[in-house]
Amino acid sequence: MPVIDTHAHVSPDRYKEAIARGERWYDLDAVAGEVHRPLGFNKSTATRLEEMDATGIDMQLVTPTVGFYQYDKPLDQTQAVARECNEFIAELVDQHPTRFMGLGTLPMQDVPAAIAELEHIMGSLRLRGAIISDHVNGVTYDDPAYLPFFQAAERLGAVLHFHQGGGGVQTVVHARTTKYSLPNGIGNLADRTITFASLVMGGVMDACPDLKLLLAHGGGYTAYGIGRLDKVAGAFEGSWPDGPLTPPFPQPAEQYRLRRPPSSYLGAFRYDCCTYDGDALRFLIDKVGIDQVMLGTDYPAPMLLIDSVNWIKSLTQLTPTEKAAILEANPSRFLDVG
Ligand SMILES: [Zn+2]
Repeated sequence: MPVIDTHAHVSPDRYKEAIARGERWYDLDAVAGEVHRPLGFNKSTATRLEEMDATGIDMQLVTPTVGFYQYDKPLDQTQAVARECNEFIAELVDQHPTRFMGLGTLPMQDVPAAIAELEHIMGSLRLRGAIISDHVNGVTYDDPAYLPFFQAAERLGAVLHFHQGGGGVQTVVHARTTKYSLPNGIGNLADRTITFASLVMGGVMDACPDLKLLLAHGGGYTAYGIGRLDKVAGAFEGSWPDGPLTPPFPQPAEQYRLRRPPSSYLGAFRYDCCTYDGDALRFLIDKVGIDQVMLGTDYPAPMLLIDSVNWIKSLTQLTPTEKAAILEANPSRFLDVG
């Protein structure tokens, strides 16, 4: 089985060429596609393949760089950016079918348009699904307006990779502080935890139990904080499992659609291994199950999990079987490879 990196990004060549000419691309600047840095997203496909070979990665599941979400822009602009990104990734996969699989980006500010683009990329472009942010201009996915989107993703068998956005889409920490890169260092993980809680406690996971969901960055603080989510949901209040959960705090009925403890949904998600810490990865596996954890490196972002395959293989906290599951078996099964 191939070693598969389930968390990798790419910026379209046409965007990079426009920026190199000193132009904007759909009004986007160098920061949107993260080509303002000397390395990283400026790398060519040839360099990408060389670095995959050098680090023992057979395949990448590539997504557009998250600065291309552009959910806050006029719909036609978001759609045009998404279509170009998605077609670029489809071309990349077509050119290197044994090295790349692809996820697209969607105009999430308009649910019918997002569904239409998802149908297009799953059909004509033969991608595996999409990467989406943790919120859409501040709206979380427990909003009933998004249920048709998740029903469509379930029907299509689409992978949904949850990953905070770049550009104007800030993490929840940004309102408190922008120091020390904490919107990245803490915000990414906090946002992912909010996504888990919104999908679970908002009833999306009950409505669409066959969704194929991937939480980037190890699912953030979800695993570590799951006991507190169970507590606020009423899992320790004596009524479950014989009856519905009875939250200890007043909850308007329409805001509470959960019948099982949040912890019982941990195994309904996949998580990448991008924790940078062997003990944290061990804890994640113990909470969510070894079958749910997959290699994810954040290539070629500055937060790259450096020499990831060797890092996994070196961890004393994992068994050889667990290492093989993370690197090969789990992503292959999730993505129907082999
Ligand atoms: Zn990433």
